[in-house]
Amino acid sequence: MTEPLISIQNLSVRFGIGKSLFGVGAEVIAVDNVSLDIPQGHFFGLVGESGSGKTTLGRATLKAAPISGGEVHYSDSEVTYDLRNIDKTALKDYRRRAQLIFQDPYAALSPRMTVRDIIAEPLEVMRLTHSRAETDERVRDIAAKCRLNLEHLRRFPHAFSGGQRQRISIARALVCSPRFLVADESVAALDVSIQADILNLLKSLQNDLGLTFLFISHDLSVVAHTCDTVAVMYLGTLVEVAPTRNLFSGAKHPYTQALLSAIPSLDPDDDKPRQRLEGEIPSPTHPPSGCRFHTRCPHAVELCSQQTPVAEAVDDGHVVACHRWQALS
Ligand code: SF4
Repeated sequence: MTEPLISIQNLSVRFGIGKSLFGVGAEVIAVDNVSLDIPQGHFFGLVGESGSGKTTLGRATLKAAPISGGEVHYSDSEVTYDLRNIDKTALKDYRRRAQLIFQDPYAALSPRMTVRDIIAEPLEVMRLTHSRAETDERVRDIAAKCRLNLEHLRRFPHAFSGGQRQRISIARALVCSPRFLVADESVAALDVSIQADILNLLKSLQNDLGLTFLFISHDLSVVAHTCDTVAVMYLGTLVEVAPTRNLFSGAKHPYTQALLSAIPSLDPDDDKPRQRLEGEIPSPTHPPSGCRFHTRCPHAVELCSQQTPVAEAVDDGHVVACHRWQALS
């Protein structure tokens, strides 16, 4: 079994909102009691609807969201960090080892900087190179790996298409030689043909550079051909984790089944009835009791609203949190 690069135990992330002068406000429980291991060298998918907490979980692994409870550990061949209790010096080093690829390639790049300067900026801010020549060499090297033409380095972002801009964002994220990358909806803003191109690039970079990815998406069809393992979140909790093939061929949780059922089929003869998710995802300020999915689950029974289901092993690497998964199988 590959050692985890990121190990999350009972993680909770809470935010206070709408606090008045008298200190009265609500609390958003964005992530609640999540445990998860992301093995080294894995392309790990995290899916769920908007508001499921997947972006917050990703940011917690980058120490960019508060860790209110539980633990997040990072461990590579050189260092081990406890992200809840990390000091300033270690955090500076961790910023080099763990990077974020942004969702929107149009908003992520400064229109006033050349592509060379955009890619070089993290190196200069973190003082990882000692001369301009060294910085330029590193920028050219990573630009070539991201299949950017070296001619492009002198231009400004407005001269590029969405796919090329996303390559620039990826080069910027990679220039400090990180080990761990969080790609948050990194292809959601692109056309389908460009999405495939960027996903192929991320996969080849993962293989060539030995990277570990946390790939966040609302779209299960995007993770199908990319990820080794997929975790499914609903309203701040983890409902199912499985190797991608197992999840697509034998999902056990009713929420995962509904997400899979919503993927459009290319087969004109496919007349399987679709499972529709009724209603909106409830507010994370007042999550439902017991199983958080019980207000929308077609299989809910009394127990579901009374008791929180615990994660149970289905198979090797496949866990599900549902009281009725065996009966429904
Ligand atoms: Fe549905 Fe109950 Fe399972 Fe939750 S625990 S998914 S409500 S059957």
